Amino acid sequence: MSENISVLISEEKIKNRISEIAMQLNEKYKGKKVTVICTLKGAFIFAADLVRQLETDVRMEFLSASSYRGTESTGTLVMKQSIDQPITGENVIVVEDILDTGRTLKHLKEYFTKQEPKSLLLVTLLDKPDRRVADIQCDVVGFTIPDKFVVGYGLDYDQQYRNLPYIGVLDVQEVK
Ligand code: 5GP
Ligand code: MG
Repeated sequence: MSENISVLISEEKIKNRISEIAMQLNEKYKGKKVTVICTLKGAFIFAADLVRQLETDVRMEFLSASSYRGTESTGTLVMKQSIDQPITGENVIVVEDILDTGRTLKHLKEYFTKQEPKSLLLVTLLDKPDRRVADIQCDVVGFTIPDKFVVGYGLDYDQQYRNLPYIGVLDVQEVK
């Protein structure tokens, strides 16, 4: 097997969009403390670039979770690593890499809402609305993309390509 990657969103476009999102968040949270929850592993680069443009007090948390389908269409949440400190009464910003079926984020939203934060904002770098199964919307979407498997800028294929500075479409071809 050999893999080809074609650029879908350039490094420059990502950079510009992150600045826009940061401006929006700086306006919204002016003078307030925020807790940013980065979902691992995919969102680590996006979160790192975004928080460095935030002008307010930021507390960072990291979480690793995925959703597995059971008998229910939305499946269940499997938490591999949760946050260290409670978020009760805090302004929380959840930073995701990609919203696909929406199962993971729907579960995460319920999980966080139970902890009664003061506010909860869902931010995703990418959104693939064509694949949505769960009823969930993000408050902030970086880019809406077609139903293609993407890698780079934190996103992997078999733990590879996370370090690419752009977002590309992975095309796996069989070698004849
Ligand atoms: P869902 O929204 O389906 O619950 O899951 C979203 C998760 O599936 C993402 O956080 C990511 O880990 C993975 N995922 C979905 N689409 C893609 C994609 O195009 N590329 C990569 N690398 N991961 C994806
Ligand atoms: Mg994710």
